[in-house]
Amino acid sequence: TAKPSIGHLVIVGVGLIGGSFSLALKRAGLVGRVTGVGRSRDNLELAQRLGIVDAWTHDVGEAVRDADVVLLAVPMSAFESVFADMAASLSDHAVVTDAGSTKQSAIAAARKFLPNPSRFIAAHPIAGTEQSGAGAAFAELFEKRLCVLAPDPDSDPDALALVKALWHQVGSRVVCMGAAEHDDFLAAVSHLPHLAAFALVNAVRRQSYEGHDPFRFAAGGFRDFTRIASSSPEMWRDIALCNSDALVKQIDAFQAELSGLREALMAADGESIMNEFKAAKEAREKWL
Ligand code: NAD
Repeated sequence: TAKPSIGHLVIVGVGLIGGSFSLALKRAGLVGRVTGVGRSRDNLELAQRLGIVDAWTHDVGEAVRDADVVLLAVPMSAFESVFADMAASLSDHAVVTDAGSTKQSAIAAARKFLPNPSRFIAAHPIAGTEQSGAGAAFAELFEKRLCVLAPDPDSDPDALALVKALWHQVGSRVVCMGAAEHDDFLAAVSHLPHLAAFALVNAVRRQSYEGHDPFRFAAGGFRDFTRIASSSPEMWRDIALCNSDALVKQIDAFQAELSGLREALMAADGESIMNEFKAAKEAREKWL
């Protein structure tokens, strides 16, 4: 693919994802200048000190006026208001994309508020850490990671080609799929695990064993299982709410698995338990 070149990139939400995208494009020499838009002055000043943005503002309308590309990397609940605030200022040639974790809701928000939704290309880089804010950003975050694009038949082919090329240039493998399909898969492999990690930590937190702090006895297994319970509560509340139908189906599936194990335990059915554990171990090892 040809190397894209962007004169003015605007990042709305200069956190882990938005900051890393800017750093990666700057490092590749593909962007002239970057303007950051956000809520927190401290975070935006930090982003400028770290060389993530060249300038910043709280005013998204002002920022996007001469933007060539705009990336939304804010929590999902902010999408509608950010699109609404930029709608009147976007130029005809601007391409808008996002990094949001749920795609049907992002596309619905773009259709509702953007003057030319065909120049919005929905994207989701499947890369992240449990850290947030500009200080957590690093240029290598997207290397060798998958980035899902969810274009639709109305998507402008030039806008799609540009967004594809950008994610390719930051090191990602790009795949295109339908937004609903994306949301179903991600509910299973990302949204449910986060919900389960938050729930497990709470289940333990609520128990006190004769005055002992249960976390004192936790070690590697607990640490690995619950790392993602350190993720941003705001971000994960939004993701859960934006993909609630698919997530509820996954909760039901998980509950059925747990019930099956519970029954086997009550019946002291070691063979069933062994079969379940074996099948899971095999599937995980095949994935890794
Ligand atoms: P983050 O908290 O590091 O960054 C989000 C930034 O947006 C913060 O700096 C926050 O101050 C700012 N912000 C919040 N509301 C705003 C508003 N109304 N206007 C402007 N700025 C606003 O979060 P992140 O991890 O970079 O996630 C950003 C987006 O990317 C989310 O939609 C998330 O679902 C998605 N995502 C996250 C991951 C991950 O693992 N962290 C992975 C892929 C996609």
